[in-house]
Amino acid sequence: MNIVLLGSPGSGKSFVGGKLENEYGLMHISTGNLLRKNDTLLKAHNIDLSNGDLVSDELVFTLLKEHIKNNPANGYILDGIPRTIEQAIDLEKFFDVDTVLFLNVTDNTVISRLMNRYVCKDCGKLKPADEPAEIKVCNLCGGELVKRTDDNYDIIKHRIEVFKNHNEPLKQYYTVQHKLNTVNANLKPDTVYKKVQKIIGAVKSNDNKNRKGRPVHEVCR
Ligand SMILES: [Zn+2]
Repeated sequence: MNIVLLGSPGSGKSFVGGKLENEYGLMHISTGNLLRKNDTLLKAHNIDLSNGDLVSDELVFTLLKEHIKNNPANGYILDGIPRTIEQAIDLEKFFDVDTVLFLNVTDNTVISRLMNRYVCKDCGKLKPADEPAEIKVCNLCGGELVKRTDDNYDIIKHRIEVFKNHNEPLKQYYTVQHKLNTVNANLKPDTVYKKVQKIIGAVKSNDNKNRKGRPVHEVCR
């Protein structure tokens, strides 16, 4: 099963993605980790992310195809791809989107979450949303948890606006395809994930029914 995750920064995409990965044997691919893991390829294209260099759609898609080919899984969760309708159309040429989860949060939720979030200074991993506040070290490498410099009020407001501008057309695009599932993601992480499980369960049972007698096409499933 292939899932597209939509949601603003702070909507809980990495939490939900991680849970889905463990429960269903899917692979969570975010644009960020895709780029970080493909350092050599970026260097070959003279792109230095720490300089703020932008990566073209074409290159992101090349990396994504390679990554899928080299990492077989029961399915993939895309986070940060597609960002535009053009990308959504291009994606369909090699990737079957079974369902789309939109983690819907209010501006206030995003602001309060991002102002209070921590990342590992050493490995960059986000502190899990369900981890108690008193924990001050990374659960992966033991590194110190710090605030991100771009998690301040003005930058957050700006990121919310940028997200909305990109997301509205995509939401409409996937609504027309009957693939969009909107989840109230203002709730506690575990409650949000329970809602997600229900949606995935329904998609899976529908999928099994529909697949009988339907030609199987060879896309990344
Ligand atoms: Zn760490």
